[in-house]
Amino acid sequence: AKDSGRGTCRVFDREMAERLQARRGLAADLRGALQRGELVLCYQPILHAAGGVAGFEALLRWHHPHRGLVMPAEFIPVAEEIGAIAAIDAWVLRTACADAAGWPSPLRVAVNLSPARLEGRDLTCTVAEALAATGLAASRLELEITEAVVLRDNQRIMALLRELRGMGLRVALDDFGTGYSSLAYLRRFPLDKLKIDRGFVQDLGHSPTAAPILRAIIELAHTLGLVTTAEGVETAAQLGLLREMGVAEVQGYLFSQPCPAAEVPALLEALARP
Ligand code: C2E
Ligand code: CA
Ligand code: CA
Ligand code: CA
Repeated sequence: AKDSGRGTCRVFDREMAERLQARRGLAADLRGALQRGELVLCYQPILHAAGGVAGFEALLRWHHPHRGLVMPAEFIPVAEEIGAIAAIDAWVLRTACADAAGWPSPLRVAVNLSPARLEGRDLTCTVAEALAATGLAASRLELEITEAVVLRDNQRIMALLRELRGMGLRVALDDFGTGYSSLAYLRRFPLDKLKIDRGFVQDLGHSPTAAPILRAIIELAHTLGLVTTAEGVETAAQLGLLREMGVAEVQGYLFSQPCPAAEVPALLEALARP
């Protein structure tokens, strides 16, 4: 047992070392990626369930000079590790607000915030600066935070969220249902919107409990005065069920993949056609 254990260990060590090295390489490349203009935002539409575009979610992409397109799941954790996330989040906010200022009002833009970002002191300043610099009305900006943030149940974060909402923007809880959020969190937290994780939507038609659970989440959210958005809507059948359940907004590949900012006007036109 000991010998095989040691063998396994050696393979494990090598794989670990390789992964660590890849990550280190990514980290080195990420420093300066912002200055080199390698980071770009893509936009995915969020639609009213009844029809019509409500806004767009900004999603980050990294055009790596050698590796090609790198997705956020791969480099956001690295950015957090090397302390580059604050600069990236600030750039995302500023760029998203600038892009949205060019869209017809009242279309909104939703921006993802890293959990670490809410621990920082200057978020309200960064937001206020982005709005002032771009002229975007606060009511057209939405911030998406994850359950990890809510779970910290931190008085300071609650105060921060209240302050942000006081400025006139909306706060959405992202990926609802993937973590451990409970009714208690939803009631206590100053939120405007619940984004229901795409896992629930994808289970529709595959698991007999998916529909009743979704229905309960939507009803509960509405009881608490929260707007609901269903993520990851890929089929017309899913859309039909979600509409019947009374969900307020929908987002997913059925309507559009995330697309470059330059394609937003054409996308708006295409989505306006019945
Ligand atoms: P998220 O906020 O949950 O974003 C939704 C993800 O689902 C996006 O992946 C989007 O491309 C994908 N998606 C949308 N519709 C569908 C669909 O119908 N089916 C399927 N299978 N997937 C769909 P993406 O762009 O790879 O982003 C992954 C995550 O990275 C995001 O999850 C978000 O947590 C994070 N992220 C993205 N942009 C930023 C950013 O600017 N800042 C921060 N801090 N995090 C970001
Ligand atoms: Ca999101
Ligand atoms: Ca999400
Ligand atoms: Ca996610």
